[in-house]
Amino acid sequence: MKNKDIIKLLNTTASYMELHGENDFKIKSYSNAIYNLERTDKKLAELDLPALEKIEGIGKSIAAAIDEINSRGTYSKLTDLIEKTPQGLRQLMELRGLGAKKIRTLWTELNVESIESLEKAIGEGTVTKLKGFGAKTVDNISELLTFAKETQGWVHYATAEALANDLVKQIKITLSEANVEIAGKLRRKWEVIDQLEFVIGHNRFDKIDEVLKSLKSIQKIPSRSGPFTWRGITKTENPVEVVVHYSTVENFYNTLFLKTGAPLHLSQTVKESSFKEAAEKQFYESEEAIYTSLGAAYCPPEIREGTWELEQSVIGKLPELIDYKDLKGVLHNHSTYSDGENTLEEMVAQCREMGYTYLGISDHSKAAHFYANGMYEDTVKAQHEEINVLNKKHAPFKIFKGIEADILPDGNLDYDAKTLATFDFVVASVHSALAMDEEKATERLLTAISNPYTTILGHMTGRLLLMRKGYPVNHKVIIDACAEHGVIIEINAHPKRLDIDWRWVHYALEKGVLISVNPDAHATDGFKDMYYGVCVGRKGGLTKEKTLNAWSLEKVDAYFKERKEKIKA
Ligand SMILES: [Zn+2]
Ligand SMILES: [Zn+2]
Repeated sequence: MKNKDIIKLLNTTASYMELHGENDFKIKSYSNAIYNLERTDKKLAELDLPALEKIEGIGKSIAAAIDEINSRGTYSKLTDLIEKTPQGLRQLMELRGLGAKKIRTLWTELNVESIESLEKAIGEGTVTKLKGFGAKTVDNISELLTFAKETQGWVHYATAEALANDLVKQIKITLSEANVEIAGKLRRKWEVIDQLEFVIGHNRFDKIDEVLKSLKSIQKIPSRSGPFTWRGITKTENPVEVVVHYSTVENFYNTLFLKTGAPLHLSQTVKESSFKEAAEKQFYESEEAIYTSLGAAYCPPEIREGTWELEQSVIGKLPELIDYKDLKGVLHNHSTYSDGENTLEEMVAQCREMGYTYLGISDHSKAAHFYANGMYEDTVKAQHEEINVLNKKHAPFKIFKGIEADILPDGNLDYDAKTLATFDFVVASVHSALAMDEEKATERLLTAISNPYTTILGHMTGRLLLMRKGYPVNHKVIIDACAEHGVIIEINAHPKRLDIDWRWVHYALEKGVLISVNPDAHATDGFKDMYYGVCVGRKGGLTKEKTLNAWSLEKVDAYFKERKEKIKA
């Protein structure tokens, strides 16, 4: 287990101890230990008990806890605490921003044990009477509850894709002769998913029934199923809806086509009903053949949203979408110089192993010192010296000297021009003071975009999908400004961010803005997340020409140098 996962388990334990009103002194010992563990460079999973006890600020009991986590992968104290917590309270514990202390008060004073009972208590006005629950706090809680209800039953694309691929694999083991495809929003690669949809083509529907019944990871809901549609849920901790459409072998591609495109795409290509009638007589051998018969070029599933794609498809002007294999380098990554888990050398090794020819390191900047170990100027200097050495050693592979500079509340970056000038590129991102209205938040970003040192605008809204809404910004105004100042927009490829939202990618491209697909990797295993960023780019019509990190090393190098020349001039 990684340090951060171990720390997370200890953190959750401390929260549950607080919920159950355990001794304050004991809870404090956890927070102290966590503070010190966050600052150690030792790999906790590799230490035995005596070595764990030697870490400064870690008591004997916490050392024993980590030792147990190392050997069993779980922590029995936490499992016990969770077990004696009512299910509804566990849901409240998962809400970001409520906190164990407040939940304990609600539980002990008002008997609140679920989202529903908390809503009721708020409605009755009893919550505002509690100590520490002012009108503003209660408003915030209401907002959290609404968000929780809206996101219930939804999972991140990455989670959904893994579940779906596993199901397809299992179905194919038994029904090897069947055509099995993912459909719906999942096939269109939405950033969050509320339904795993499949089409199975086989002439014996009883065989499909049989295989679905045999699968242990899903459960049928008979009342919602019919003779041609199986409906149920996954047997996961957060159950997701599953829908399977049955199709005959010859009608497979017609069904797949109809079950993939968004309603707007289908209604624009074909009147769905008339297509269905025609499809009963005309069976297509592929989706390509369907588009040909409609007088349009083939639309890859990701773009079938009914927004921009058809206009271009009918005149044969669809762009050739970027592919994961087109990427040549990895920009926006963190190392042990800030809050990353791996050293520069380890990041380089992994990057080269994956076939990339350059790596852009952009650790956190000094304003982020206290929450992400951001770098003061002397650390920046030390990092640049190490990069120089590594660049000699690994040439022609190149590490670009970058920074993820904090955008301060007033829109300025947190280094002076002299320091900013030492970097090859600057990713400007917002990490703190997220609560701003749209006008202020947009102003803040506009100031950062007009800073001549800003190369890339990082995770534009700061959203954490299904966890935290982004700060409100006027996307159009921001994109227009990026076009004006030649600032590249990041698609932050982390599965929980996928920010800028795909709904704005096409507009950015129309404005001539360049995109960079950045993993924001905090460890070597983060590079692979670029795949999810590519999915988002494809939805907006992104090509390899318009993707900075699909360019060759020489081209990116020349581009960064040219931008720096411009600042000097
Ligand atoms: Zn960031
Ligand atoms: Zn970052």
